[in-house]
Amino acid sequence: MNVAEIFETMEYGPAPEAAASAQNWLKEHQPFQLFINNQWMPPVSGRYLDSINPATGKSLAQIAAANSSDVDAAVAAANAAQPAWGGLSGHVRARYIYAIARQIQKHSRLLAVLESLDNGKSIRETRDIDIPLVARHFYYNAGWAQLMETEMRGYGPVGVVGQIIPWNFPLLMLAWKIAPALAMGNTIVLKPARYTPLTALKFAEIVQEIGLPSGVVNIVTGEASQVGEAIVKHPNIDKIAFTGSTEVGRSIRRATAGSGKKLSLELGGKSPFVVFDDADQDSVVEGVVDAIWFNQGQVCCAGSRLLVQENIAERLIAKLRARMERLRVGDPLDKAIDIGAIVSAAQLKEIQRLVDQGVAEGAEMWQPSWACPTEGYFFPPTLFTDVSPAASIAQVEIFGPVLVAMTFRTPAEAVALANNTRYGLAASIWSENINLALDVAPKIQAGSVWINCTNLFDASSGFGGYRESGFGREGGKEGLYEYVRPAWENEEAAQQEEPRADEDEAVEVEEHGLNGMNGLPAIDRTPKMFIGGKQARPDSGYSRTIYGPDGRSIGEVGEGNRKDIRNAVEAAHAASKWAGSTTHNRAQILYYIAENLSVRAQEFARRITRQTGRSLSSATEEVQATISRLFTYAAWTDKFEGAVHRPPLRGVVLAMHEPIGVIGLACPDDYPLLGFASLVAPAIAMGNTVVVIPSQAAPLSATDCYQVFETSDLPAGVVNIVTGERDVLGQVLAEHDDVDAIWYFGSAGGSKMVEFASAGNMKRTWVGYGRPRNWLDPFQGEGEEFLREAVQVKNIWVPYGE
Ligand code: NDP
Repeated sequence: MNVAEIFETMEYGPAPEAAASAQNWLKEHQPFQLFINNQWMPPVSGRYLDSINPATGKSLAQIAAANSSDVDAAVAAANAAQPAWGGLSGHVRARYIYAIARQIQKHSRLLAVLESLDNGKSIRETRDIDIPLVARHFYYNAGWAQLMETEMRGYGPVGVVGQIIPWNFPLLMLAWKIAPALAMGNTIVLKPARYTPLTALKFAEIVQEIGLPSGVVNIVTGEASQVGEAIVKHPNIDKIAFTGSTEVGRSIRRATAGSGKKLSLELGGKSPFVVFDDADQDSVVEGVVDAIWFNQGQVCCAGSRLLVQENIAERLIAKLRARMERLRVGDPLDKAIDIGAIVSAAQLKEIQRLVDQGVAEGAEMWQPSWACPTEGYFFPPTLFTDVSPAASIAQVEIFGPVLVAMTFRTPAEAVALANNTRYGLAASIWSENINLALDVAPKIQAGSVWINCTNLFDASSGFGGYRESGFGREGGKEGLYEYVRPAWENEEAAQQEEPRADEDEAVEVEEHGLNGMNGLPAIDRTPKMFIGGKQARPDSGYSRTIYGPDGRSIGEVGEGNRKDIRNAVEAAHAASKWAGSTTHNRAQILYYIAENLSVRAQEFARRITRQTGRSLSSATEEVQATISRLFTYAAWTDKFEGAVHRPPLRGVVLAMHEPIGVIGLACPDDYPLLGFASLVAPAIAMGNTVVVIPSQAAPLSATDCYQVFETSDLPAGVVNIVTGERDVLGQVLAEHDDVDAIWYFGSAGGSKMVEFASAGNMKRTWVGYGRPRNWLDPFQGEGEEFLREAVQVKNIWVPYGE
C-alpha cells in the first residue's frame, strides 16, 4: 500500500473534547442571575429561561429573564460608576483591561468549551479563533486606553453604553463591544443573545475577579422584548451599539431617532466571493470552505455568493462538490468535525424554508450524499447553481451553510454582480494577478475586502458595513470614535451675541426693488438653483422671498421640491468620477474656489450683512473664516489618508478612506456662508458629491457661490444646490434610496425626522440635534470630525508570500 492509498483508506477516529469542567462550572453557578453593580442579582420577574445545547436540544442551564426594572437598575449602576471610571487615567484603565485579557487567556479552554456547548460551533473554531481573538481585542484596547490622553486629545467618553449582541460569536461580539468602550472611559449595560448567554456570564465572573470597579460592566440576560427594547429606549443611556439583523437594526434606528444617542449598527450581509480564471483553484476551494461553512455559515460576512468566471465554473464546481462530500458535520466538541450545529430549532427551520424557496424558484440544489446527525439541529453544506441574480436565495441573508453560485465573464460584470445587493459588509477576491485584484477591490462596495483569503479578523483592523450592512466600525482606531464625543460638546456651548450693524455701516445698495444706482431701476437678479453644473429654475414654478432682519425683502430664491431633489441626486451620481480624481486635483480646485471667493470678499460680506443684520466687520470675518476653511480642507485633501495595519499574519491590511458617495447636506442658519462651506468643503474634499440645502433663512450666500464654482473648474454635478424649506427638502433627501449619507444642522425636531427617515436604506446620518455649534471656532467648525464623517474605511487584506 503506498502513501496515497493509505490516505484514501484512513478514517477519522473520534477526538472529543472533555466537557466535564464546563458542566461542573454550570452546575455550580446555576440558576444564573443578573450581573449588576458587580453583584449577582435575581431578576425582578423571578423568571428563568433555559439555555439549550443545539447539538442535543437539551437544556444546559437556567438563565435569569430580566425585565425593564432590572435594566433600570443596571443603567443606574452604570451611570453612578461612569464619572469615576471615565476620570481614571488611561494607564489605570489599561491595567484593568490588560487584566481581563490575561484572565481570558487563563480560562481559555473553559470559555471555548462553554461557547461550543451553548452555540453549537466547533471546538476547533472556538479554541483557535474565537477565544484568541477575544483576548487580542482586550490587549489591543488596553493599549488605546494607555494612549487615549495623547492620541484622542479633545475627546471624552460618551457615558453609558447599551450593547446588544447576537448569538453567532457570543464572546467575540462582547469583546468587540466592551473592550473599546472600557478603554475610552464608558460604562456598560450589555445584553447577550437569548440563545447564547453563557460565556458572557463567565466574563462577568472575570470582571468580578479582577476587581473592576462596581457598575462599570453590567450583564443583563433575557428576551429582546423585555431587555433589548428597554435598553434601546432608556433615557439614561448615551449610546447604543448593536450587532444583529438589518430588520432589528432598522427598528433601533427609528426608536433612537432624535434622542441624541450615538448609534453604531453592524448588520447583515450577502458577501460576494469572486473567483477569476487565473486563481489557484485548490486554494479557492479551501477558501470557500472558510467563507461559507465556517461557523455553519452563521456569519454576517459569510461569502455566501460564489461568483465564478464562466470558463472555469464547471471545473471549480466539480472540485467544490468533491470537497463538500468530504466535509464532516457532527458533535461540536469533536475536534475532527468541520461543521457543528445550527444555533436553534428556529434558525434551522428558517434555513430549510429559504432552501425550499430556492428549489421552488428553479435553482439547482446539491448536497453531499451522507446524512447529518438526527439528534440536535444540523444542516448539511448546500450548494445552489443555476441561480438567477434576482432569486431570493441570491438576495436574502440565509445565515446558514448555504452557498449560491453564479458566473460572470468580465471583471466589470463581476463588479456589477458583486454590488447587486443591498448589503455591503465584505467581499473576497481570488486571482493570482494582484493588479486585477487591487483594481477590483475599491470597486466593490464593502467594508472589508479579502484578497486570496477570507474571513480574517483582527483588533487592529476595523470591521463594518457599507449600505444596509450598517454604519460605524469596530476595531482599529476608527472603532474608538464610536465610543467618544468631542469634549467641547459636553461644555456649555456659549453662544456669543453677534454685534448688530452700525448705522454708518448700513448697506445702502439695494439689489431688489426699484432703488438701483443713479436712480435707475435695478436689474432683477434671480438666484436659481444649481443642478448638474447648470443654473436651474425650480420645478414648482414658485419662488420664496428672503427677508432681511428688518423684515424687508432682499431677494427671492426658488422653492425647491421633490423633483428638484431627485434631479440633483441624479446629477450628483452622474458626477461620481469626482471620487476617482486625484487628491492633488481636488485640493487644487478647493484652493481655486477660495481664491475666487477672496476676489469677491466684500460683495459676499455685504450679502451676509443684508441677510443677517450683522455688522460688516463681523460679516467680513465670516468671509475670511470661510476662505481659511476652504484652505484647511484643500490642505487635508491629500493628507487625510488611511493606514496600513500589520495584523498577526504574513500580510498587510490597507485601510483605505473611501468617499461615501452622494451626501445630502442641510446647512445651519447661523453663518450662511461659513456654515455652507464648512459642510461642502470636507464632503467634496474626500471625493463625495453633494446635494446642499442652504440656510433656509439666508440662502443667498450659498446661491452666490455657484458663480464662484463655475469659475473654479469644479466639475458639473459635484455640488448641487436646492433652495427651499429645509425640513421638507431634508425629508426627501433622507428618504431617497440613492443618497448614501445625510448631514443635518437644523432643529432638534428636524434631526429626529432625518434619523427616522434615513432608516429606509440605513444611510449614515450626522445631525446636530438643534444644539448650538460655534462655526467660527476651528475645534467645533472644522477638522477631523468632519473628515471622518465624509469617509468610510475599507480594509483590504493582502496576504503575501509563496
Ligand atoms: P436579531 O437581530 O433579532 O438579534 C440580535 C440581538 O438583538 C439579540 O440579542 C436579540 O435579542 C436582540 N434584539 C432582537 N430584537 C430586538 C429589539 N427589537 N430591540 C432590541 N434588541 C433586540 O437576530 P436573530 O437572532 O433573530 O437572527 C435573525 C437573523 O438575523 C439571522 O437569521 C441572521 O440573518 C441575522 N443575524 C445577523 C447577525 C450579524 O452578525 N449580522 C447576527 C445574528 C443574526 P434575543 O436574542 O433575546 O432575541
